[in-house]
Amino acid sequence: MPQTLKTKVLVVGGGPGGYVAAIRAAQLGLQTVLVEAERLGGTCLIRGCIPSKALIHAASLYAEMAETAASGRFGIHLKSKPQLDFAETLEWKEGVVDKLNAGVAGLLKRGKVTVLSGWATFTDAKTCTVACAEGPIEVTAEHVILATGSVPVELPALPFGGSVISSTEALALSQLPKRLVVVGAGYIGLELGIAYAKLGSEVSIVELQDRILPLYDSKLVEPVRRWLDRNGVTLHLGARALGHDGNALAIETAGGERLSLPADRVLVTVGRRPNTRGWGLEATGVAMNGPFVKVDDRCATSTTNVWAIGDLVGEPMLAHKASAQGELVAEIIAGARRRFDPIAVAAVCFTEPEIVSVGIGPDEAPGGVELVTGQFPFQANGRALSMDAGADGGFVRVVARKSDHRILGIQAVGRHVSELSAQFATLMEMGAVLEDVAGVIHVHPTLSEAVHESALKALGYAIHI
Ligand code: FAD
Repeated sequence: MPQTLKTKVLVVGGGPGGYVAAIRAAQLGLQTVLVEAERLGGTCLIRGCIPSKALIHAASLYAEMAETAASGRFGIHLKSKPQLDFAETLEWKEGVVDKLNAGVAGLLKRGKVTVLSGWATFTDAKTCTVACAEGPIEVTAEHVILATGSVPVELPALPFGGSVISSTEALALSQLPKRLVVVGAGYIGLELGIAYAKLGSEVSIVELQDRILPLYDSKLVEPVRRWLDRNGVTLHLGARALGHDGNALAIETAGGERLSLPADRVLVTVGRRPNTRGWGLEATGVAMNGPFVKVDDRCATSTTNVWAIGDLVGEPMLAHKASAQGELVAEIIAGARRRFDPIAVAAVCFTEPEIVSVGIGPDEAPGGVELVTGQFPFQANGRALSMDAGADGGFVRVVARKSDHRILGIQAVGRHVSELSAQFATLMEMGAVLEDVAGVIHVHPTLSEAVHESALKALGYAIHI
């Protein structure tokens, strides 16, 4: 007989959706159990956002040092080329992950959340059995929060295994790949492909569509495309991956030609699918919305007191959206009246250079709405130049409704622009108009001055261009 446990709130999945929901529920005085089969932190902390950004940081540092050593830029001279010990790089990256993982465990402990380590399988909507190392535990709850996240999509022609890897294995390789082919030019593939190119791998990218980062407009993507060109990353656009024989990836090009791309690793990043299999989703009786669990604007599923959040419920599949939904559901369970209706969820590509996007672009005017756009190049921004970040074609662009100047979208491409994302989202959420941005004194010298100038440009009087 399994041990039994009754609780007010059961959260399944310890990613940024689930663990935030559990911490918030505990803060609000709700008795909470969190079940996680692997490590606390989920995809984001253990095999996604955090390790990828750590690898990107180390790779950028190495590439900059190598370039400086070769060119003597900034008056800095190195006696020899920097040496990369890839195993040590990964050890450092793992240290960052471990620290954050321990931090999450500490926060849950402080909140008196009961954490069960094991795979949960539902037998009905409010009951699951957790396969813990010490034996099975049956948990019954008044409220269930499903936060099981997502997993990488596999291509039938390229099943994962051996040298065909997903982002998870790409973040834990024992050796630097000599030749890496990335299949899929979305943000995950490009972030990792660029990091490996900086570390010294020979990188090619194969994409079925005729452009990289298909979710972003071509002007925003252009500086990234130029970086790939300049740094010898080969792009095969409009091309289909056919299969890998252990040494080379066979592709069919846009023109119908068959090519064989030598590859000791093939990284498949063609998307992620919600994790709906193998945990008794059917037993919960929740309705589906395509491959995702269907929720309303309170993250309520079709089954009473069963809630679902994060990647499991659909796009945008981003950590900050998952956390926002986790917090919201915990508050609703505690009695608050809340809805998930953000005006803006900013998205960032940590590519070279970085891209931030929120709201609409200049070519996405809703029917009948006339837009005004202001764009300001980092080439004319003192801080960008002083950080050697002004020459990659980056810019800030603000898009507003012509009639009342209400900001409907802001985008940027350039080095370090990810840090502007909170300002962009805040302006959108606060319903700012161009004059609001124009009226704020922005600190000099900062990249944010380019935001100010883009608003001035839209109003017709940018100062520095
Ligand atoms: P997850 O983080 O996927 O967590 C779900 C957890 O549930 C997992 O730990 C899993 O083990 C557990 N679980 C599932 N089923 C069960 C079960 N039956 N029993 C017990 N446990 C179970 N997003 C960003 O916002 N910014 C980024 O920079 C970014 N970079 C990324 C880079 C990579 C390489 C990848 C792969 C993803 C990245 N993402 C990024 C996406 C981000 O990781 C996800 O959007 C986020 O993790 C979703 O959170 P979640 O809580 O919904 O699910």
